[in-house]
Amino acid sequence: MKLHRALFLVLVTSAAFGPASALADTSDKPWMNKSLDPDRRAELVVAQMTLEEKQTLVFGYFGTDAPWKKYTIAPEAREGSAGYVPGIPRLGIPPQWITDAGIGVATQGGAKQKRERTALPSGMATAATWDPVLARRAGAMIGAEARASGFNVMLAGGVDLVREPRNGRNFEYGGEDPLLAGVIVGAQIAGIESNHIVSTIKHFALNDQETDRNSVNVLIDKAQARMSDLLAFQIAIEQSDPGSVMCSYNKVWGDYACESAYLLKDVLRRDWGWRGYVMSDWGATHSTAKAADSGLDQQSGYPFDDKPYFGELMLQAVKAGEVRQSRLDEMVQRIVRTLFAKGVIDDPVKIGTIDFAAHAQVSRAGAEQGAVLLRNAGNVLPLKDYKRIAVIGGYADKGVLAGGGSSLVYASGGNAVPGLKPATWPGPIMYYPSSPLRAIKALAPQAQVDFASGEDRKVAAALAAKSDVALVFATQWNGESFDSPLTLENGQDALIDAVAGANANTVVILESGGAVFMPWIDKVKGVLQAWYPGTSGGEAIANLLFGRVNPSGHLPISFPKDASQFARKDLEEKDKQGAKAGTATYKEGATVGYKWHDAHNLPPLFPFGFGLSYTQFAYSGLQARLEGEDLVVKFHVANAGSTDGKDVPQVYVSPAAGGWEAPKRLAGWRKVDLKKGAGADVELRVDPRLLALFSEADNAWRIAPGNYKVMLGSSAADLKQETSITLRERRLPVGWKPGPVQASASNSH
Ligand code: BGC
Repeated sequence: MKLHRALFLVLVTSAAFGPASALADTSDKPWMNKSLDPDRRAELVVAQMTLEEKQTLVFGYFGTDAPWKKYTIAPEAREGSAGYVPGIPRLGIPPQWITDAGIGVATQGGAKQKRERTALPSGMATAATWDPVLARRAGAMIGAEARASGFNVMLAGGVDLVREPRNGRNFEYGGEDPLLAGVIVGAQIAGIESNHIVSTIKHFALNDQETDRNSVNVLIDKAQARMSDLLAFQIAIEQSDPGSVMCSYNKVWGDYACESAYLLKDVLRRDWGWRGYVMSDWGATHSTAKAADSGLDQQSGYPFDDKPYFGELMLQAVKAGEVRQSRLDEMVQRIVRTLFAKGVIDDPVKIGTIDFAAHAQVSRAGAEQGAVLLRNAGNVLPLKDYKRIAVIGGYADKGVLAGGGSSLVYASGGNAVPGLKPATWPGPIMYYPSSPLRAIKALAPQAQVDFASGEDRKVAAALAAKSDVALVFATQWNGESFDSPLTLENGQDALIDAVAGANANTVVILESGGAVFMPWIDKVKGVLQAWYPGTSGGEAIANLLFGRVNPSGHLPISFPKDASQFARKDLEEKDKQGAKAGTATYKEGATVGYKWHDAHNLPPLFPFGFGLSYTQFAYSGLQARLEGEDLVVKFHVANAGSTDGKDVPQVYVSPAAGGWEAPKRLAGWRKVDLKKGAGADVELRVDPRLLALFSEADNAWRIAPGNYKVMLGSSAADLKQETSITLRERRLPVGWKPGPVQASASNSH
């Protein structure tokens, strides 16, 4: 099979662009001289371009046929992909071959042929590892597959804050806390770009719901945005310097995000000093002059927009003086500079072979480290030497669920459960053929393992009744373009009830994009949150259930008890007549997730940061001190149980005088790997922005003088130790960045 695929890839190797060595003599192309800096190289080549060539680089095609627009892809595009921007062969500028997305090389649903590639677990699962080293490795793996598939731009790095638990795309993102999301997504982007390709952080910004996503006008206090959604982007960007930023569909403060000079010029460039290029989401460009003047550098997938705004219309606008020539030059300079800076030009992508076996290990490790053990009453897990094991529901006999939409990766072996509706966008509903049942059987050769689909509750309960343990798989399909309630679909709550009623040893394994409600929680002994676990998910789940791998994931989001705990009742605001007002007012500001639960005294079902292990950890010796102006926190963590395991001790901070958006904020963590009986001293340097409030008036971060609590816990709701420190007043410029120590991809957060 592998050999067959390798052969296929070699045969289809594109000759569209020659190797760098062909351009080694730089006398007629001085910009190919690698010893010059990327800015200079870009300047030299942009100076050679005609107006038409410049326009070519700012105008993106779709990489798949779009029959509804009578659009057929260009022959040099990579069939079935998200996008394509032609190159300028005479100047040595390669095409931009663009692929989705965050869990691997995706194929558009409309493509006749699907690329079969490795899928990582969902972005949420990667965030649940709390391990930037693993996230970087995961990024490096999918970036390598992108490269070997002939793509030099990957639309990966979804860091929209999980502000709205019902958001259908939460599974693509890094959770509800700006520090955690920023660090993990930043690490993944750095891994992707280590392959000399561009990674595109998205969706900028405040694209926190799918309901009305193309038109909703998001209103939020600007300072609160700086401390929430924008902080997640700021941290991810400073950690990884992504080549590109994708502006989002929605409006913010009245302007489309891709026409928001505030977001694209003031925040991104002036304040954060970021130097890449801004591309629009597919269908998010709405004008030529306004978008260009507001900071959009490239229109993507033009058939999705009403008009070819940066195509023919750009040429006309420049000729008519509606877009300044200097602005077009700047757009092109940014794109070309990025292609030089990231190695896209010097190290052209080549279609090549992929080591699928090695990549499966990377994906499996992510699923294993990201799964969160939420409940383990009476130590029902790890599974003992049971004689009869019942596996019920969730198509566990066939595979594991994936999230829907543009990020969907098609894997080797096809869809394990074909034919589920919707079959087309945002479907198909995809199950990767990594069957948990098969993996469970392999790990329990002594046991009789039986499967019931769960369609008939009575049959499932009868099987559970005669088994020693019942493993119920519950799945919740989320996807792009729709939001979902948190109640499990298709009668799965009733199924779990029925099984738990028949067998006291019931364990629920959840494959969901984010949080779900669990009205049955007290009736079951175990819950393992497996998210969408990727193409090796079945094996990962079995390894965790049998204790081959000790669970170490921690929640990157809060699990609300019920809808009464949401910050907002409805996803779209209505006017007095009940018509859509087209506005979403995020009144909660930066009070997102655990901050909301804390501030309103709403104990969640499971708190942010929570995750059990088969061993126990003990914390001691919490100390806080100042090093210069920086807060440094030290403590000891010990594995006090009888199994090796990984823990995620978390540091939270809180001002004694109050005044923040919430009682406390996550200020740091470290994922520690400890043998049984072993311990480790951990030292963390706190990012001072997490001790500050953002001041719009000063355009700066301000730390108020006074006393601050420093707390060490195993989740946002389980704080084990506390100390305090007095901080002096401090002002940090808006673009403040941590020094090289924190910026490195170590797990020192
Ligand atoms: C999504 C983006 C994606 C793009 C290209 C859009 O629908 O919002 O995340 O990268 O399509 O497929």
